[in-house]
Amino acid sequence: MVFRVTNPASGKVITSVAAGSSKDVDIAVNAAKQAYKTVWGLKCPGVTRGRLLNKLADLLERDMDELAALEALDVGKVWDNAKNVDVGSTIAVLRYYAGWADKVHGKTIETNDKKLAYTRHEPYGVVGQIVPWNFPLGMISWKIGPALATGNTVVLKPSEITPLTALRLADLINEAGFPPGVVNIVNGYGHTVGQAISEHPLIEKVAFTGSTLTGRKILKASAESNLKVVTLELGGKSPTIIFDDADVEQAVKWAAHGIFFNMGQVCTAGSRIFVQEGIYDEFLSKFSAIAKGLGAATGDPFTPGTQHGPQVSETQFNRVMGYINSAKAEGATVHVGGERHGQEGYFIQPTIFTETRPDMKIVQEEIFGPVAAVIKFKTEDEVVEAANNTAYGLACNVFSENLSRALRVAHSLEAGTAWVNCAQAGEVCVPFGGYKQSGIGRELGEYALDTYTQVKGVHVNI
Ligand code: NAD
Repeated sequence: MVFRVTNPASGKVITSVAAGSSKDVDIAVNAAKQAYKTVWGLKCPGVTRGRLLNKLADLLERDMDELAALEALDVGKVWDNAKNVDVGSTIAVLRYYAGWADKVHGKTIETNDKKLAYTRHEPYGVVGQIVPWNFPLGMISWKIGPALATGNTVVLKPSEITPLTALRLADLINEAGFPPGVVNIVNGYGHTVGQAISEHPLIEKVAFTGSTLTGRKILKASAESNLKVVTLELGGKSPTIIFDDADVEQAVKWAAHGIFFNMGQVCTAGSRIFVQEGIYDEFLSKFSAIAKGLGAATGDPFTPGTQHGPQVSETQFNRVMGYINSAKAEGATVHVGGERHGQEGYFIQPTIFTETRPDMKIVQEEIFGPVAAVIKFKTEDEVVEAANNTAYGLACNVFSENLSRALRVAHSLEAGTAWVNCAQAGEVCVPFGGYKQSGIGRELGEYALDTYTQVKGVHVNI
């Protein structure tokens, strides 16, 4: 069985890829288990694991242009961004965890009965990893980097919408010299391959990035199989809050980046922009100018000068247009955009709505597209309450030149990441994850090492 891969800029099928089955997952898990027991895990020194991760990063650096081209073709990312952000950050993440591979330490503990006690941070064994389509290569690096550094072997499923860079990465993993069975990439659908990973009794942990709906299914499958440990990176509805005392030029620039980067297909997209009344008009006029500029620079991801590409697929295009149409029907005002761009491919104009109400779908639900709701507010208390009025808790952005206020508000918002006077600033060394229904556990930074190891307490009678 195969599934088709479409170029979202043209809507045309570019290739097809073999769709795995639950039997393929079983074969992969057994290979991963064997590799864990014989050549990886406790059998492979951290320094060797780190060297291999660094070698893989070297190969990605060598093939940056090609990988960026695949990402642009498959996802519709602007080629420059695919190269510098997607491939660039993937390399950085692999190198960061390569550095940790020989630095995973336990503690010695003084016991009351004079025994020697110490802790070991041991790998789980085989971990399952399921990733989405919005940063195909980047999300894989967030998963395999800490998993391999800490000695786990991996069975990974890319999104069926964007399998191409994962396939190329599999070649590079072989070329880097990872022993067979350490990394197993199985392409396929969620309800087959993804489900089989979530249920497999030899997988001890699953790490998932994707929608909250699918996250629930994975948690349930884990509970009903072998109670595997589950970490979830899920959806968001992040607020951007701009106070009267903000540097407006900077706030406009970051707010636009916060919602329009990657065509709005970012889990941390700042889709609800709260602007204090004193600067509302100035903000809206400058923010609209940026959105219109992006609209004018919309086009093929490979054309120099393009700044805004298509949505990833026809399904996502229809989903985002559905939100735009529902907002129009519910009485919100289209301030900029609100239509498809061109007749070919899945392009949507950067869109700004005003005059929204808190109960509208575009204010409550994750859109995952280039659609912002700009909302006027008066007081700090009022905006904190409104910003927290969501089931999600992934990220927030606060703009103010008054540092006390900015930090006070950042601390009051229910979110796993707070950006102060910036947006979408992903740093590999800083933990990332969600409050509320945006997730369970943390990725990136030193924290990710804890989520890929289990602690053993050893007592020694001396
Ligand atoms: P999705 O949940 O539809 O799919 C994600 C992955 O899960 C895909 O590989 C898919 O095949 C697989 N899957 C689907 N059904 C499954 C099942 N029953 N069992 C196991 N696996 C299954 O999400 P998507 O549309 O690919 O990505 C968009 C979503 O991802 C958005 O909600 C976005 O916010 C979220 N996301 C979150 C983060 C984060 O770090 N928090 C990052 C990127 C994307």
